[in-house]
Amino acid sequence: MVAIAVQAVQTAVLERGDFDAFLHAITGRGYQLIGPTVREGAIACGPVASANDLPEGWTDEQEGGKYRLKRRTDHALFGYAVGPHSWKQYLHPPVQRLWRAEREGSGFRVVAEEQARPRYAFLGVRSCELHAIAVQDKVFLGGPYVDAIYQARREDLFLVAVNCAEAGGTCFCASMNTGPKVTAGYDLALTEILENGRHYFVVEVGTQAGAEILSAIPHQDAKDTDLQAVQRVTEETARHMGRSLDTVEIKELLYRNYEHPRWDEVARRCLSCTNCTMVCPTCFCTTVEDVTDLSGEKAERARRWDSCFTMDFSYIHGGSVRASVKSRYRQWMTHKLATWIDQFGTSGCVGCGRCITWCPVGIDLTEEARAIRSTDSACAENHPGENRHDRHP
Ligand code: SF4
Ligand code: SF4
Repeated sequence: MVAIAVQAVQTAVLERGDFDAFLHAITGRGYQLIGPTVREGAIACGPVASANDLPEGWTDEQEGGKYRLKRRTDHALFGYAVGPHSWKQYLHPPVQRLWRAEREGSGFRVVAEEQARPRYAFLGVRSCELHAIAVQDKVFLGGPYVDAIYQARREDLFLVAVNCAEAGGTCFCASMNTGPKVTAGYDLALTEILENGRHYFVVEVGTQAGAEILSAIPHQDAKDTDLQAVQRVTEETARHMGRSLDTVEIKELLYRNYEHPRWDEVARRCLSCTNCTMVCPTCFCTTVEDVTDLSGEKAERARRWDSCFTMDFSYIHGGSVRASVKSRYRQWMTHKLATWIDQFGTSGCVGCGRCITWCPVGIDLTEEARAIRSTDSACAENHPGENRHDRHP
């Protein structure tokens, strides 16, 4: 393969008929390709070998507490919004053994866990999801303690982004300044165009690794009309967001409303089921569990996703700090939209809408924030346009 300079191909056109060659160019370089697949009534991430594995001709309908797959009238490969799975399951696994121990005489021997270093290529990553990965990068790699498990999976990651051509019913990335147009953090970014009987992709090159993949497959230079088509697609998507969130001074709004009666109302509906935290691409909390076999010969310690909605999560010598559902919901939403900003310098929410779609009772944080703002005595409307540091850069 001949490597080419990034400057030589900034944008290109890839025909649908060459899409398998594109996927093979990725897998041929030793990447484990993960992308969207139709599984168990949803579009979920999984191994992809060819375009046949992709959700061709499928879309989704999403609303608070509702998700349905639906047939499209065309053969789009990426004609859906985000599904229940986020990419975090690959970078921050739901269950991760840390070490195990085996009995040896009257003592035991600790066997260190070998660090898996999978070489993933993610296909179909949306703009909000790139921002979510950037948020998790801050959490796991940006502080004084670097998470070795995340780092080993993140280092060689190859990212093929896709500009959303349709907004989901619960999406609000436009409010969070995280989409729908992909702007950074990708190796290659695709926009799928189906126009005038033609099906093709406009490819934007983000890195040298992306340029090398592109150079190995048939493509043409993108024309102005192709770039205009990309702009049309993303502008149209931005106009059709299913939800919106006013982020002006949202941190201050939530900080001065810890005792707002709305927390009691939402707590009457919330089942404290943890779904919103499990599907969220930025939530990162874990617990540590020790397990032994029945004979007492073997033991192991594992790290497992946890949630601020469980009683155990805030259990400290004799009781949970957040014993009520009200305190747990308030903690979650205030962390996402306010305290996260103080902690990591960015919002903890990228507006993907998953917590709304996958909440069994349809609780919607945009609606909760709106309700609090509408009855806030020092409404942020008094200070329009100030202090927008609560949005993603
Ligand atoms: S809080 Fe909800 S909308 Fe925001 S990133 Fe998490 S799942 Fe997506
Ligand atoms: S807000 Fe919804 S998804 Fe989250 S814990 Fe409550 S009921 Fe479950």
